[in-house]
Amino acid sequence: MADIRFDGKVAIVTGAGGGLGRQHALELARRGAKVVVNDLGGSVDGSGGGSDAANKVVDEIKALGGEAIANGSSVTDDAGVARMVKDAMDAWGRIDILVANAGVLRDKTFSKMEIPDFAFVVDVHLMGTVKPAKAVWEIMRNQNYGRIVVTTSSTGLYGNFGQSNYGAAKLGLVGFMNSLKLEGQKNNIHVNAISPVAATRMTENLMPPEILERLKPEFVTPGVVFLCSEEAPTGVVLTAGAGAFACARIVETEGVYLGAGGLSVEEVRDSWSKIVDPEGQKAYNAGGEQTQKFFRKMQGG
Ligand code: NAD
Repeated sequence: MADIRFDGKVAIVTGAGGGLGRQHALELARRGAKVVVNDLGGSVDGSGGGSDAANKVVDEIKALGGEAIANGSSVTDDAGVARMVKDAMDAWGRIDILVANAGVLRDKTFSKMEIPDFAFVVDVHLMGTVKPAKAVWEIMRNQNYGRIVVTTSSTGLYGNFGQSNYGAAKLGLVGFMNSLKLEGQKNNIHVNAISPVAATRMTENLMPPEILERLKPEFVTPGVVFLCSEEAPTGVVLTAGAGAFACARIVETEGVYLGAGGLSVEEVRDSWSKIVDPEGQKAYNAGGEQTQKFFRKMQGG
């Protein structure tokens, strides 16, 4: 089969000044894409900033013979996001790919978490994906083509101690993807999520060096680049790290129908093992499909 190429395609990668985003941007450029490298700079907790990080990656792409533009805006800044999209359109006339990767951490147990730190993390991850996606959405609809990759996390999918803010934002992104995948379908806009594990400044203190060595961002990027390609699926959460790839899904058990007449709390308690029984559990493609199950059960099915 032919190699996956992005000649003639334009990509925006947010938070691409370092870590995973840099690697995604470089690989897209190596394969022919013109790339907007967005990065606010700043530290892991989102303080500080400057466009050096983005400029450096643009230089790297140019040194490889590729085309790139730097953008030093925050993904949460409306005017900055509008400028980023305008710059890409002015230079290249289209936007095919958005990899929403920018992110920050402000870890604390919920007991010690201040609401502004919760709100900041949700804002950067969730609204910092929503705003660029909104800014490219009509462009992609008009082109009848688009690929969007949001960046979720095992914390969002499964939880992690001390990361309630981050987890709320990261699973919010899966909810965002689930609706966009439906709305984008008729215009060939595919929306997927990557749940990476990689050695970056975000994780450098969490694991010993010999493990970090096995977790290079390069081992995640091929999955992201596939999700940016014409052959990408839609609505998939791809988990990736150390060269391993898998798919995460929300499934629902078949459950029980207890009837509507005289339904008691005790009946729910006494049916618990059936409610949680994994036999026959399934993933749904849309909320309405799940509601259909209740109608089926109501009719004795
Ligand atoms: P990183 O800190 O190296 O990269 C994040 C980048 O986003 C930084 O370059 C930072 O400057 C930029 N950024 C932060 N706030 C921004 C803003 N408001 N506007 C624009 N840019 C901004 O960390 P990373 O590990 O490469 O993280 C990339 C993404 O992957 C994040 O969304 C992160 O939550 C996610 N993730 C990473 C891991 C992991 O194991 N490294 C695991 C799960 C999810």
